[in-house]
Amino acid sequence: MLTSSYNPLLVVCSLLVAILASYTALDMAGRISTAQGRAAHWWLAGGACAMGLGIWSMHFVAMLAFSLPVPLGYDPAITALSLLIAIGSSAFALWLVCQQTLPWSRLAVGALLMGPAIAGMHYTGMAAMRMAPGIEYDPLLFALSVVIAVAASGAALWIAFHLRRQSSRVRPLRAGAAVVMGFAIVGMHYTGMAAAQFPLGSICGAARTGVNTGWLAVVIIIITLAVLAIALIISVLDLRLESRTSVLASSLAEANQELTYLALHDSLTKLPNRVLLEDRLGQAIQGADRGHSHFALMFMDLDGFKAVNDAFGHHVGDRLLVEVAGRIGASVRAQDTIARVGGDEFVLLASVGEPADAATLAEKLLTVIREPVQVAGNELRVSTSIGIAIYPGNGAHQHELLTNADAAMYHAKALGRDAYCFFETSMNANVHEQLQIVQDLRLALARRQLVLHYQPKFDAPAGPVIGAEALLRWRHPTRGLIAPDQFIPVAEKTGLIVPIGEWVLDEACRQMRAWRDAGHTSWTIAVNLSPLQFSHANLIQTVRDTLARHALEPRCLTLEITESTAMRDVEASLVILLQLHDMGVRIAIDDFGTGYSSLLYLKRLPATELKIDRGFVRDLARDTEDAAIVSAVVALGKTLKLRIVAEGVETTAQQAFLTRLGCDTLQGFLLGRPMPADRFIEAVSPVTALPGVATPLETP
Ligand code: C2E
Ligand code: CA
Ligand code: CA
Repeated sequence: MLTSSYNPLLVVCSLLVAILASYTALDMAGRISTAQGRAAHWWLAGGACAMGLGIWSMHFVAMLAFSLPVPLGYDPAITALSLLIAIGSSAFALWLVCQQTLPWSRLAVGALLMGPAIAGMHYTGMAAMRMAPGIEYDPLLFALSVVIAVAASGAALWIAFHLRRQSSRVRPLRAGAAVVMGFAIVGMHYTGMAAAQFPLGSICGAARTGVNTGWLAVVIIIITLAVLAIALIISVLDLRLESRTSVLASSLAEANQELTYLALHDSLTKLPNRVLLEDRLGQAIQGADRGHSHFALMFMDLDGFKAVNDAFGHHVGDRLLVEVAGRIGASVRAQDTIARVGGDEFVLLASVGEPADAATLAEKLLTVIREPVQVAGNELRVSTSIGIAIYPGNGAHQHELLTNADAAMYHAKALGRDAYCFFETSMNANVHEQLQIVQDLRLALARRQLVLHYQPKFDAPAGPVIGAEALLRWRHPTRGLIAPDQFIPVAEKTGLIVPIGEWVLDEACRQMRAWRDAGHTSWTIAVNLSPLQFSHANLIQTVRDTLARHALEPRCLTLEITESTAMRDVEASLVILLQLHDMGVRIAIDDFGTGYSSLLYLKRLPATELKIDRGFVRDLARDTEDAAIVSAVVALGKTLKLRIVAEGVETTAQQAFLTRLGCDTLQGFLLGRPMPADRFIEAVSPVTALPGVATPLETP
C-alpha cells in the first residue's frame, strides 16, 4: 500500500470551512423559515448553493491536504458532479428543516437520505482521482463513515430545526452547534479517508490535468470563504432590514389602532363619541329589525353644568363630567352604549323590552346623577334632563332618532329639569319652529316688533315704587307676544343679542327720560344684560353714549347681570363692572343663589343690589331650607352693604316673610306684573298714593 500523508495547515483549513459552512447552513435555515412567499424560495436556493459549496469545498480542501507519493489530480467532470450532489442534499436538508413540524419519522428519513448523499459526495470526489488500480476500501471503516454521515445529518437536521427561529438568544447556540456539526462532517471525511487504501503502484488517472493543487487549494478556500461570507452578510443585512421593517410595521399598526381609537372616542371620558354612536345606532336598528325588538335612545343634558364650569373652572367641570360618565356607565348594562356627544351631553343606547323599562332606566339615571359629587373639596350638584326616543316608532333612521330624542330632552328641560320625557310627534314641530324663529328674529328689530314691558319694583313691603325692570317682549305677527325665554337664548347663540340689547338699553333710557320729565325723579330703570352683551367690547361706550343721548344721570340706570355671568371669568368681570361703577351706573347681581359664587369674590364686586332668585322665594313657605338660605343671603347682603331685592313675590305671605327677613325691595306678580309703559303710570299711581298697603296692581 502507498503511505499517505496530510498537510496539517490544510486539515485545519478544512475544519474551519466545515464549521463556517455549518453556521451558514443554520443561519439560512433561520432565514428561510421566517421569510415569506418568493423570498423563501430565493433563500432556499441561495442557502443550498452556499451550504453545498461549503461542504464540498471542505471535502476538497481536505483532499488537497492529502498526498500520496505519486502525483495527484482531479477529474473536473466527476468533481463537478460531487459538487452537485452536495448542493442537492443541502437543498433537501434546508427544505426539510423549514417545515412546520419535524416529527421523528421525518427526521429519520431525512438523516437516512442525507447521510448517504454526503457519503456519496465524498466517495464521488474520491473517484474523481481516477486511481488505477482502484482504491480499496476497508469495509468496516467505510461503513463507519456512512454511519457517521447519517448520525451527523440527523443531528444537524435536529439542531437546525430547533435553532431556526431568529432571536439574539439563538446566535451563540448556533455557533456552538456549527462547531459540533463541523467536527462531525470532518470526522466523516477523515474516517472515509482512513477507509481508503491505495495499492502499491497505483497511479492517478486524473493527474494529467496538470492543475497545480497548491494554487487550487488557495483559490477554492478563498472562493468558498467569500461565498459563505457574502451569504452571511446578506443574511444579516436582510435580517436587520426585516426587523426594522417589522418594528416599523408594528408601530404603524399601533399608531393606526391609536388613531382609530381617538377617532371613535371622547378623550376626556373615554366614552364612544358621536361617530361610534352613529355606527352602533345603525347596528342597533338592523338588529331590532331582524329580531323584531326595541331599543331606547336617551339624550341626556346636564342641568347646572355651566354654572359649575363658570364658578370652578374647566378642570373641575372636566372631573365632574368624568364622574357623571362613570355613574351612567355603572347604571347600564355592558352591552349598552353610552356616548358623549357634546360638552355636557350624553347619549345612551339601550335595548329595552318595553317603554316602561326605559322609564325605569331613566329614573335610575336621574337618581344617580342627582347625588352630590365631591371634586377638589367642593360638593357639586347637577341633575340631568333626559329625552327618550324608542325604536321602532320614534324615527326610522339614526338622524331622526337622535333629533327626536334631543327634542324630547328639551321638553324635559322645559318641564323644569331633572326629569325625563318620551318623544311625541308634536315635539318635532319645536325644532322647525326654532329655525323659523331665528329667521324671524333677524328681521324683528327692523320691523319694530320688539317692545319693552316694565315691572315695578317696590320698597318693602308695599311701596312706594322705586323704579322698574325693563323686560323684553317680541310682538310676533303670527305667534303673538313671545316671552324672552323663548328667543333670548337663540339671540345669544346667534349674536343677535348685541344689536337687540343696544335697542333695549336705548328704549329703556328713552322711557326713563320720559318718566323723569313727568316728575318721577327718584325712579331707576333696570336693564338685563346677557353674557354676550356683558363681555362685548363696546359695552362701556354704548352705555355712556346711550345715557348721554337721553341726558340721563348714570345713577338712574341699573344693569342686571346674573350671578353665573359675573362669576364666569371673575377677573374680567371685575374690570368691566369697575368701569361701569366708576361711571356711576348701578349693578345688580341677578338670580342670586343659583350659581356657586364664592363670598370672597362677591365682596370684591362693586355691586349695589342682590336679587334673590325666584326659586327660593317660591318655596319659602314650605321649605325651611330655602328660608334659611334667604335669611343668610339677606344677612350677607347687609354686611356687604347691598340692597336686597326679592323677585317673584306672588303671595302676601311671601311679602310679609321677606319683609320680616329684611329685604329692601320686592318685585313680583303680587305687587305688579310686567306691563307696557303707557299702563305703568296709571297702575302704579294708586299704590304710591297709599304707601304701606299690600294691594296687588291691576294686571293686564
Ligand atoms: P329675570 O331677569 O329674572 O326677570 C324676571 C322674570 O320673572 C320676568 O320674566 C318676570 O316676568 C318674571 N316674574 C316677575 N315676577 C314674577 C312672579 O311673581 N312670578 C313669576 N312666576 N314670575 C315673575 P320674563 O319677562 O319672562 O323674563 C325672563 C328672563 O328673560 C329674565 O329673567 C331675563 O333673564 C331675560 N330677559 C328679559 N328681558 C331681557 C332683556 O331685555 N335682555 C336680556 N338680556 N335678557 C332679558
Ligand atoms: Ca332681571
Ligand atoms: Ca331674576
